[in-house]
Amino acid sequence: MATIQLNDIVKRFDDITAVDGIDLRVRDGEFIVIVGPSGCGKSTTLRLVSGLESVTSGTIEIGDRDVTGLEPNERHISMVFQNYALYPHMTAKRNMTFGMKSAGSFTDDEIEQRAAEAASILDIEDLLDRKPAALSGGERQRVALGRAICRDPEVFLMDEPLSNLDAKLRVQMRAELSKLHDELATTTVYVTHDQTEAMTLGDRVAVIDGGQIQQVDPPQKLYDFPSNRFVAEFIGDPAMNMLDVEIVDGHAVQEAFSIPLPTERVDDSRPESIRNATLGVRPEDLYLAGAAPSLGEETFGATVTVTEPLGDSLLLYCEVGGTECKVQAEPRSALQPGDAVELTYDPDRLHLFDPETGEALYHSSTPSGDAEAVGTPAGN
Ligand code: ATP
Repeated sequence: MATIQLNDIVKRFDDITAVDGIDLRVRDGEFIVIVGPSGCGKSTTLRLVSGLESVTSGTIEIGDRDVTGLEPNERHISMVFQNYALYPHMTAKRNMTFGMKSAGSFTDDEIEQRAAEAASILDIEDLLDRKPAALSGGERQRVALGRAICRDPEVFLMDEPLSNLDAKLRVQMRAELSKLHDELATTTVYVTHDQTEAMTLGDRVAVIDGGQIQQVDPPQKLYDFPSNRFVAEFIGDPAMNMLDVEIVDGHAVQEAFSIPLPTERVDDSRPESIRNATLGVRPEDLYLAGAAPSLGEETFGATVTVTEPLGDSLLLYCEVGGTECKVQAEPRSALQPGDAVELTYDPDRLHLFDPETGEALYHSSTPSGDAEAVGTPAGN
């Protein structure tokens, strides 16, 4: 096991800057997920750590070694790819152990023992003699993981390893990856564009956009205290509602409402000092008035425009003072498009963002035991 330290790494491909100054420390034994939209630079970041690409500038340390100039096979890492990268003419076992002998670090007995241990951990003992064509997608992915485990690396690097699996298998393999990490505690960097994977797997999640880290934090903190509008809208599904408001006497004011903002907060960005802002509120923090009696009596009017029954909830698209707002309501409601509704909200779950920069200005609650100012990428 080892720490990973990225120091201001930059990667340019001609005139494209794929990675634009990333600083990140991954702790020993940590499972960190890099998440972001397509093209944000997450795979390139992983390939820089692996040595498959070389940095334009910056340095990379694994453990106490500067590996910036080292070849991939000198970095003590194992990679797992989206496409499994198995050799079709080799059995599962041969795929898992291929190259270990020629690398010179393992005896025949060690290779046998490691293959047996990895197969046992992954529950693929019965599949070792099969070739990839005779394996299902999930089984192939287990073999690919087995190959990574056999090498007992200091670091696992995983690039979208579950995205070729169907939805049900993905959920199953996600849980298995979590168990595997609990068991092996190998430092892991995992790249995905899927925020559910990021939230469920990561000890911490690094959100990247435009080749730059937007925020690095544990999943719940990302969700509760996004440091900017990009993170707020990227994490959470359906995405956070964003409404243009004016701040007047500690209230967020819009045509349809005047919402008081709690001021008993620890940092200095009090709502009185803000004039124009974007109010962020998640669909799951909005309620039909009366549906959440513990939340107080502030309500505002809205008109339902679309209803989407999701089984466990009813997603309402509402028009609030000229802005579309999603509300995750209780299922089995008889509401129809055109209905007028009264909405209420959880006062502890309001966010204000700078309309120009998108930086978070205010959250209506603060992280427990954490008085750090909002708006700074934390923890990296
Ligand atoms: P995806 O989720 O679609 O795989 P990503 O976040 O992993 O996206 P990268 O593959 O890291 O994104 O690519 C980041 C940017 O760098 C993109 O604009 C991409 O086109 C560019 N890029 C990546 N590799 C190369 C390359 N070898 N040559 C030129 N441009 C590249």
